[in-house]
Amino acid sequence: MQLTYLVTGAAGFIGNFVSERLCQAGHKVIGLDNLNDYYDPALKDARLARLEQYPQFTFKKLDLADREGMAQLFAESGFDRVIHLAAQAGVRYSLENPFAYVDSNLTGMMTILEGCRQNNIKHLVYASSSSVYGMNTKMPFSTEDGVNHPVSLYAATKKSNELMAHSYSHLYGIPTTGLRFFTVYGPWGRPDMAPFLFTSAILEDRPIKVFNHGKMLRDFTYIDDIVEGVIRIQDVIPQVDDNNPRTSPDSSSAPYRLYNIGNNEPIELSRFIEAIESAAGKKAIKEYLPMQPGDVPATYADIDSLQQATGFKPSTTIEEGMQKFVDWYKEYYNA
Ligand code: NAD
Repeated sequence: MQLTYLVTGAAGFIGNFVSERLCQAGHKVIGLDNLNDYYDPALKDARLARLEQYPQFTFKKLDLADREGMAQLFAESGFDRVIHLAAQAGVRYSLENPFAYVDSNLTGMMTILEGCRQNNIKHLVYASSSSVYGMNTKMPFSTEDGVNHPVSLYAATKKSNELMAHSYSHLYGIPTTGLRFFTVYGPWGRPDMAPFLFTSAILEDRPIKVFNHGKMLRDFTYIDDIVEGVIRIQDVIPQVDDNNPRTSPDSSSAPYRLYNIGNNEPIELSRFIEAIESAAGKKAIKEYLPMQPGDVPATYADIDSLQQATGFKPSTTIEEGMQKFVDWYKEYYNA
């Protein structure tokens, strides 16, 4: 059955691949993005150009914080489902530009929730982040653990998104699923993230900044595995048990779900750098630095509940994934 999807952040890294997969499955996709200049707008244009071959894809340039524009888009488009992936991302940028996070991530989430409420949307899937776990030291990170101490403003807005989704699920019965993504990488990936920054520096013989002296652990997750999880969860629509009406304050009485989506295998920064060196055929020049404010020492996803719900099983190793990224990077930048 052909469905009509709103995908926000369609010019962004993850939204672009999710839009592509939905088009390949025969769905109609309206891809929204404000094409902001947080990073190279030419990369966003090039990602959108990848979607031009799909006649059922339509691009809409719009800011999530534009309340009237968003309400009008929802009213005239007849969306069945919404995948909300647009956000002001990045931890370090939030130290300098806090209001960009309030506009895109808080007001932006609000226009999405209101659009869903007023237009009877059947399922809202939205991006949260492993950053909500903050300095959590209980490994692996589980959605069962209450986490309430985000250590960056970015993380605080992502945690807020989960709370806002819970309230709308509870109040209005809107089925919502939050996905906590763990460091996503792959071809067409983000220029502000370590896979991109390290690859470009290594290929250009510039030193790389190795924070926390290379001891940082990250659960790097390859883009194809992430997209597979996002697509699989679409049909797992949260339901409320009729015997459990929305009168109690706990999550079980709202059609609200939350999952980790990660590789379930944390990698030390030093092994990650070796994977790039081997893919690029060059050695890195390393500059060892302490932890940065807002950074966390480790991320590690417990993915049991997503696996149970969808059969999700990530299959790409860091060596395979970084080889694909470095090959893409060399071709795209003619490096
Ligand atoms: P991205 O920055 O590549 O994509 C986000 C897109 O949203 C961008 O194209 C941007 O122009 C757009 N956008 C931002 N603010 C907007 C606004 N106000 N109105 C309209 N469009 C706006 O990021 P991504 O890596 O594709 O991440 C997708 C989602 O996943 C985000 O919500 C991000 O916070 C979350 N996430 C990503 C990662 C990761 O490792 N990539 C990890 C955890 C969470």
